[in-house]
Amino acid sequence: MKRIAIIGGGVSGLSAAFALEKRRQAGASLEYALFESSPRLGGVLVTEWVDGCLLEAGPDSFLTEKPWASDLSREVGLGDQLIGSNDADRKTYILVKGRLVVMPDGLMFMVPTKIAPTALSPLFSARTKMRMAREWFHPPRKADADETVASFVERHYGSEMVDRLADPLLSGVYGGEASQLSVRAVLPRFAEMEATHGSLGRAILAARNKMAHAPKGPAKPLFTSLKDGMQQLVDAVVSRLPASALHSSTPVQRVQPQNGGWVISAGYASDQFDAVILAIPAQAAAELLGTASAGLASELRGIEYTSSVTVNLGYDRSVRACLSGFGFLVPRSEGRHMLAATFVHNKFPHRAPEDRALLRCFIGGARNEQVLQSTDDEIVRIVQEELGQIIKLKADPLFTRVYRWNGAMAQYGVGHLERLQRIESLLQNLPNLALAGNGYRGIGVPDCVRSGNEAANSVLLSVGLAEARPTGLAS
Ligand SMILES: Cc1cc2nc3c(=O)[nH]c(=O)nc-3n(C[C@H](O)[C@H](O)[C@H](O)COP(=O)(O)OP(=O)(O)OC[C@H]3O[C@@H](n4cnc5c(N)ncnc54)[C@H](O)[C@@H]3O)c2cc1C
Repeated sequence: MKRIAIIGGGVSGLSAAFALEKRRQAGASLEYALFESSPRLGGVLVTEWVDGCLLEAGPDSFLTEKPWASDLSREVGLGDQLIGSNDADRKTYILVKGRLVVMPDGLMFMVPTKIAPTALSPLFSARTKMRMAREWFHPPRKADADETVASFVERHYGSEMVDRLADPLLSGVYGGEASQLSVRAVLPRFAEMEATHGSLGRAILAARNKMAHAPKGPAKPLFTSLKDGMQQLVDAVVSRLPASALHSSTPVQRVQPQNGGWVISAGYASDQFDAVILAIPAQAAAELLGTASAGLASELRGIEYTSSVTVNLGYDRSVRACLSGFGFLVPRSEGRHMLAATFVHNKFPHRAPEDRALLRCFIGGARNEQVLQSTDDEIVRIVQEELGQIIKLKADPLFTRVYRWNGAMAQYGVGHLERLQRIESLLQNLPNLALAGNGYRGIGVPDCVRSGNEAANSVLLSVGLAEARPTGLAS
């Protein structure tokens, strides 16, 4: 019987546990134990119901084009609970000089793919529009080295594009800054497009032309979520795992290699396992591995994280009239605390009753981490003040909830992919150890699910159980 430990009970660790459970049910001779420091499982996936509204404290959805979270949902019996974003209402605004300007139709991240809406949009100055036209003639360029997203975007479209689109979009996803994040790690497809086509606009057009001949299915929504919120995924996965394998309120303090396996120390107890999956933030993994491998710990410590706060505010229905679209993004140059706001009742069905409006605001990130030092009341006051200025929302909320996420968002800095290569080569010296989580190859929920699956497969292979094929669990 092989014994595997999983450390971390967020979506990455739970996905790894579910993958192991499938192997166990398929007959593999294995047992596993998942250790989670907090009393609840799910990590940053937290859903709360208040006054008939569904509040997401962490992620509210995931990108539909990345299949792994939807696949997991189906495997745990939630196929009929998957919902798509209301893309008919999908309009996002950018705050420009204190006014909200709608993002023009046809932008793919920051690449314009439709001429008329971009040419007519007040989002960009005439100078940036000229740059967009010139970008069409950008020569192919195979970069020798990584660079920041800001310098990449600036080379193609100029600094206004960085300020008004690239930076706010990345703040929304990573809580990070375009001037720090690696283009190769964060926008790998764009880096490839530059190498092959030069112009990003031409590259996207070429890809579209190719796709035009492919058979078309029904249009998919941009975002997918679950009817009862992201917590539904956590609860469904947990319900398919044996309770005896799940150890919440059990922080692991140390993992040490011993006799070809690993000793896990949590509190006063230690236990021996054949393999370990560390599904925790890279910084936390560095703490646990300090004595096992100083080199690996140092590389993991180099992956930085930022903190953020989400604030949910519920209002009565009269507020709905002043909010159209999915929400707005706030460029750094606007000098606000807020990074973004989502009009939740517009973005997804089943989030707020007809007589309520629900907003979710983000603050913090690399731009403003000190806001985490403020009290909840101060944070709500800041958010209300800025909503008053930006969308003229003067009504008092019926309820507010503030959620703090300390060091939860990994930042893929310049050189991140090279760091991952060094980490992978250091892992060769530490058999039966795998890493999962948002610190490595994707920060979103689907990538975290994939990372958990891959970590499970990797340790199964290393302990000689990989040949037992998964059959899926009955739902
Ligand atoms: C506010 C916010 C909004 C987001 N929005 C989206 C979104 O809309 N869509 C999307 O796709 N992604 C989103 N993300 C990103 C995504 O949710 C996360 O990257 C992902 O859920 C991380 O999962 P994880 O399991 O790797 O880490 P976590 O959820 O951080 O889980 C790690 C777990 O490890 C535990 N742990 C740490 N150290 C130890 C230890 N020593 N012993 C035992 N346990 C330990 C922690 O308590 C935690 O529960 C968002 C993230 C945040 C914070």
